[in-house]
Amino acid sequence: MSQLNTIPIAKPWMGQAEADAASRVILSGWVTQGPEVAAFEREFAAVVGAPHACAVSNCTTGLHLALLAVGVGPGDEVITASHSFIATANVIRHCGAVPVFVDIDPMSYNLDPRKLGDAVSARTKAILAVHQVGMPCDLRAILEFARPRGLPVVEDAACAIGSEILWDGHWEKIGRPHGDVACFSFHPRKLVSTGDGGMITTANAAWDQKFRLWRQHGMNVPDTVRHGSKQVVFEDYVEVGFNYRLIDVQAAMGREQLKRLPAMIARRRDQAARYRELLRGIAGLALPKEPEWARTNWQSYGVRLPAGAKQRVVMQALLDAGISTRRGVMCAHREPAYAAAPWSCGAEKAQCGCAPGVCRRLVESERAQDEVVILPLFHDMTEADSGRVAATLKTALNA
Ligand SMILES: *Cc1c(COP(=O)(O)O)cnc(C)c1O
Repeated sequence: MSQLNTIPIAKPWMGQAEADAASRVILSGWVTQGPEVAAFEREFAAVVGAPHACAVSNCTTGLHLALLAVGVGPGDEVITASHSFIATANVIRHCGAVPVFVDIDPMSYNLDPRKLGDAVSARTKAILAVHQVGMPCDLRAILEFARPRGLPVVEDAACAIGSEILWDGHWEKIGRPHGDVACFSFHPRKLVSTGDGGMITTANAAWDQKFRLWRQHGMNVPDTVRHGSKQVVFEDYVEVGFNYRLIDVQAAMGREQLKRLPAMIARRRDQAARYRELLRGIAGLALPKEPEWARTNWQSYGVRLPAGAKQRVVMQALLDAGISTRRGVMCAHREPAYAAAPWSCGAEKAQCGCAPGVCRRLVESERAQDEVVILPLFHDMTEADSGRVAATLKTALNA
């Protein structure tokens, strides 16, 4: 076993181009938010087809600003999925609002639009829809629910750079956006990475201006303008803002990463197709599948284990063979930070009578966390690697 290399769960694809870009910026004398960030924003907007793109320090801070822009405040409710990375629920609480969790669809692992009706109340202020692990959620159905009720839709597109959705007969990139605001992450677990980083896209120019104000302490004159001015400029702090900036070193890396995006996605499509080929013979193993109206970027490849298979045992068998995996996406309502509070079962927790970590309303979310195993998938993964993963999984399942 020791002669086998270990296969990690994920690995960013970056190289000399990113190193050179970072070094160029470091040596330029301007390292914080400046011209590289502006160029990255323009290029990102062009890639996803968005009118406005505003760079921020990460997707979590982006989502925070997005919720503030659409008017979420203390005491409001925001409908979202519990089955997501913890940041999705946390940003709602950062606004002083209450997350109301709806269950997921067991095929797509995304928010089930048919459950929205049960979650809505007079206090609902917005819907935070997640494109989980890059698979587009059913935005059309979500918008059909939201629009007549005047509810803004924020897209947690942290994982969905390069994913596409069929819209009025055309394939469009996630982030146009199709809801009101979309937020992306550049964490190394996502396709395009700047170490940490985020981007907010919208068609609403006034909100885009707000994002620019809030990310920089509420200051009404950007550093670049003050720096370039021939006149003395005094800035004002017109609102209580944040320090949510991306820096030019990261933006320069991001611009190089964006150039690689088409190759990243093409490669992942091939790798996902190969997994499907290798794994489809395993009885009872449910493989991920795109609906006809969605194309995922295959940020992750999660398989649902056959009934009776023990997730931890299977994952340990893979780890013993040098293969790193992760269990299904977490559920916020099962975490200690959420377990005791009223939001863990939506607004009804006090009356619902669910046991901790077992919510009657979030059955599919909990099952997905407990039954799915996420397999390694990264750009430099070879056919030999995926063959080894498939063979080891087969053995572990006695299939
Ligand atoms: C990664 C992730 C985030 C957080 O992104 P950061 O850039 O790390 O803040 C939020 N939501 C989802 C669904 C994610 O996968």
